[in-house]
Amino acid sequence: MSDLDFLVTLNNGISFSCNSKKTILYSALKAKVVLPYSCSNGQCGVCITTLLRGEITEIQEQIGLTSEDKLDKRILTCCCAPKSTIHIDAEDLSALHGIEVKTLPARVSNVTYLSDNIGEVKLRLPPTANFRFIEGQYLDVIWNSIRRSYSIASISSEKEITLLIKRFENGQMSDYWFNKIQSNDLLRIEGPKGTFFLRDAAKPLVFLATGTGIAPIKSILNSLEQDADYQQAHPITVYWGNRFTEEFVWQAPFSKLKVDFYNVLSRPVDDWSGETGYVQDIALARQQKMGDSVVYACGSNAMIKSAKQRFLASGLPENRFYSDAFVQSF
Ligand SMILES: Cc1cc2nc3c(=O)[nH]c(=O)nc-3n(C[C@H](O)[C@H](O)[C@H](O)COP(=O)(O)OP(=O)(O)OC[C@H]3O[C@@H](n4cnc5c(N)ncnc54)[C@H](O)[C@@H]3O)c2cc1C
Repeated sequence: MSDLDFLVTLNNGISFSCNSKKTILYSALKAKVVLPYSCSNGQCGVCITTLLRGEITEIQEQIGLTSEDKLDKRILTCCCAPKSTIHIDAEDLSALHGIEVKTLPARVSNVTYLSDNIGEVKLRLPPTANFRFIEGQYLDVIWNSIRRSYSIASISSEKEITLLIKRFENGQMSDYWFNKIQSNDLLRIEGPKGTFFLRDAAKPLVFLATGTGIAPIKSILNSLEQDADYQQAHPITVYWGNRFTEEFVWQAPFSKLKVDFYNVLSRPVDDWSGETGYVQDIALARQQKMGDSVVYACGSNAMIKSAKQRFLASGLPENRFYSDAFVQSF
């Protein structure tokens, strides 16, 4: 295929040029147009959109698409390049304009192990870094040529960046976080990234999390708690799922916000007074009337796929389900 540039147009008329050998997402971000995205490697499906006109080529496997999606001309912008001028039904996230992705040095300022398998790491950036993010976004940490994504659990007004990290058996970065890390270590970060942030706070909000998927939700809720202009007029409900009781390492200490918080254990154990089952099942059973609720789901890909399928089947419009899947890095 020859190397050509084609125009990509969004529904709101915004256009940008995209090289036929680069993904639509790559060219959009380069042109400072922010389309929805998360993993950037075809797994999570956040960047799904409809190809309204024109032709594309798949330059990376679209793992997150079903065969039905393909028949419906659905594409993942992180995997496809244009073969002609194209028109896509993508959302323009102008809220992110002005947020610049930076590569910065970061020093480890503190590590606390909240359980055997969950660490809370605080990172200190250079005073001149001017690192700005929207609560809910993630960043990449680079150590020893290994790069992994982590959601930011702190809020933008805090001096340090907090990450909540789960240990993976034989994980390369887990080995660093849980065995090797020293205070004052020098790492690199690249971010902020992703488009998992609150679209409209003036709606009933339902948050679903599994494991450390609570990190961006903690950040979003704390930012609402701290926002002097935010007056809560609708319910906020959080369903947080874990496999073990010791993994419930955060209790929401809100004074202004009223949050209905459900800790959900996936398997029953003695002396557990919370909910038992899968977060999406508990949420669906409790949220009988969705009204104009908006769902934000973060954590395992299996939970997110199941939650999306079940909430949409129960009548939730697709544009009221946002997610960030903690998929494996390639
Ligand atoms: C957008 C995004 C945000 C993320 N945010 C967080 C966060 O806030 N906190 C957090 O703890 N993690 C988060 N992750 C996951 C994180 O990036 C790593 O995947 C995870 O820390 C494992 O890295 P590792 O190097 O220890 O394991 P690896 O060396 O990559 O893998 C070790 C083993 O674990 C399995 N594995 C690795 N990653 C995953 C995974 N994500 N799901 C299931 N199995 C896996 C592999 O198959 C392998 O068998 C996020 C991922 C993404 C894409």
